[in-house]
Amino acid sequence: MRFHESAGILEVYRPVEVDVSGGRLFLMLGFDVSEVSGIVSKITRLIAVNAFIVYILGLLALIAAVNRLTEPLENLAEGIKDLGLGRVPSPVPVRGYDEVGALSSNFNKMIEDLGRYREEVERYQKHLEEMVRDRTEALNLANSELLRINASLKEANAKLLELDKLKSNFLGIATHELKTPLSVVGGYLDSLRDGFAGDLNEVQDGIVGEALSSCHRMEALISDMLDLTKIEAGKMPMEIRRFPVIGCVQKVGGQMIPLLQKKKLTLDIQEGGMEVEALCDEDRIIQVLVNLISNAIKFTPSGGKITVSARGGTRQGPSSVQVTVSDTGIGISHQDLPHIFDEFAQVGEPGKVEGTGLGLAICRRIVHAHGGEIWAESKLGQGTTFHFTLPLA
Ligand code: ADP
Repeated sequence: MRFHESAGILEVYRPVEVDVSGGRLFLMLGFDVSEVSGIVSKITRLIAVNAFIVYILGLLALIAAVNRLTEPLENLAEGIKDLGLGRVPSPVPVRGYDEVGALSSNFNKMIEDLGRYREEVERYQKHLEEMVRDRTEALNLANSELLRINASLKEANAKLLELDKLKSNFLGIATHELKTPLSVVGGYLDSLRDGFAGDLNEVQDGIVGEALSSCHRMEALISDMLDLTKIEAGKMPMEIRRFPVIGCVQKVGGQMIPLLQKKKLTLDIQEGGMEVEALCDEDRIIQVLVNLISNAIKFTPSGGKITVSARGGTRQGPSSVQVTVSDTGIGISHQDLPHIFDEFAQVGEPGKVEGTGLGLAICRRIVHAHGGEIWAESKLGQGTTFHFTLPLA
């Protein structure tokens, strides 16, 4: 086939072989090209317009797609910002079932839970506040009750102090008033025994002897009570001077010889260390030593030993003297030990040994009045050790 364009006509021809009396036949077709090119340019324009429209539509679709993706993310970002500010955000719209949609619905679930927890926390907080308010009210009530009790206790205490003072005064006067007639009775009994009213027969002598020993016991009790009330009232005269401990111990040891011999006891005064000097009232410290050593004699069976020692520097510090009196006597049980310094405390087997139960109470007051301490250690059946401290001179 051949094409040939001339004068705006496109000629198309092709030899067609047809036997026409030995010759060749050509078939020729002609088109008006200008018409075709008009159609072509029309089609081209149409394609261009369509391409533009497709481009615009594509752009719009892209913008819509981007918006669709970013809007939920922006909503989520807003929500997260609210969370950061401590607010519970409103749920974000969930669009579609893609990852962003899943994220949004999870976010909504989370804020729903958060809202619930916050409500619970608020409820609990309210409950706590109510509890605190109730407790505060109860505490205030208890406090005012305590203040009231405290005030009445103070009042009762003041009354007790007043009564105690009255008791001390009364005891002081009563014991003093008892002492004089008692010594008169004792004097008469003594003279009766000495035959002032004639010779006594055996029975009379026994009766007078019993009356005399009761009289002596009562005198001892009265003088102990007088001492106690005087110390309690701060009326015991004290003359504090420096004394070598050895001097006091030897004096008491000398006084005790008859009693020691009577019970066949040994008194061991350990003089090493006893040269220390204490600041004390000599008579009162002698009174303490007499009480401790006579107790040791009383509670130690025949053949036993009493040891007295002293040293400078004690558990109270280097500026005090510690005096120790120990015996090999009957000892004190650990239940009784804390009570032996109480007034009228007589422990162990009741009524077995004579005494007033005031000796150790007096010792404690005298030692305390010197600023010292007194304590005891003991084991039943093995003996007792008393220690007391005094200020070192
Ligand atoms: P009392 O004048 O009756 O002896 P104290 O106050 O001196 O009173 O003693 C109180 C009690 O402590 C005594 O009754 C006694 O039971 C006990 N006691 C004191 N010293 C000793 C001791 N060395 N050994 C055993 N018991 C003692």
